[in-house]
Amino acid sequence: MTEAVLQTRGICKSFGALQASRDITLDLRRGEIHALIGPNGAGKSTLIQQIAGSLAPDAGRIMLAGEDVTTLDTPARARRGLARTFQISQLAMEDTVLQNALLGALGASKVGGLGLWRAALAQQDARATAQAALERVGLAAKSATRAAELSHGERRQLEVAVALTLSPKAFVMDEPMAGLGIEGSKTMTGFLDGLRAQAPILLVEHDMDAVFALADRISVLVYGEVIATGTVAEIRRDPAVRAAYLGEGA
Ligand code: ADP
Ligand code: MG
Repeated sequence: MTEAVLQTRGICKSFGALQASRDITLDLRRGEIHALIGPNGAGKSTLIQQIAGSLAPDAGRIMLAGEDVTTLDTPARARRGLARTFQISQLAMEDTVLQNALLGALGASKVGGLGLWRAALAQQDARATAQAALERVGLAAKSATRAAELSHGERRQLEVAVALTLSPKAFVMDEPMAGLGIEGSKTMTGFLDGLRAQAPILLVEHDMDAVFALADRISVLVYGEVIATGTVAEIRRDPAVRAAYLGEGA
């Protein structure tokens, strides 16, 4: 179970004189939740953007399932199974939960390019895919509810359902607990816990209770540099981590 689904190798990114990513090399392995933590401004979102393809690195490579995707744009990476959620909500708020999930599933089946009969079959497939994804995230009972009427937490679960319709190989999530409150965070924690079996998750999260509860491994980013990678126990007792980060609050 140590196969790396997503890899960064020597990622560097500067904004003028500021080095936001310094030679970042890390792996997301099959079946794991790998948390990326660090103080505000450490460069977590900058790394996530480079992995997702919305920001080009100055140097380094990004590999998805063994393929170099460094020069591919975000949609091309998404089609190859990289699911990014929670940074910007991409839901159609006036549409129902099922319609949102269907949009993802239809996009995946590329209905537009097929003949009529095959298009109809593809739509049946898409509907089944969409319904399965909603069941997977626990939203099947809300299929007919408009996205606008969902709670924050449910919208995030719906975003994951949309992502699931693309059969993701890896999830990349930037602060899924943000704004959810204590109960919402607990629900989301339970949800992410089960999701790792579907595809591994690179998880940027401030909520340390959630990180310590979920993470198989943690990487600590400080001033754009990974100063440690290890299990929860290893990270908790790492002197450099305690000095640079955990010592402050956690
Ligand atoms: P984090 O997500 O860990 O809080 P960010 O990746 O958002 O950190 O930011 C890392 C550093 O890079 C910060 O100092 C931030 O101000 C800077 N930064 C991020 N994006 C840009 C940008 N587009 N232009 C200039 N500086 C940026
Ligand atoms: Mg950030």
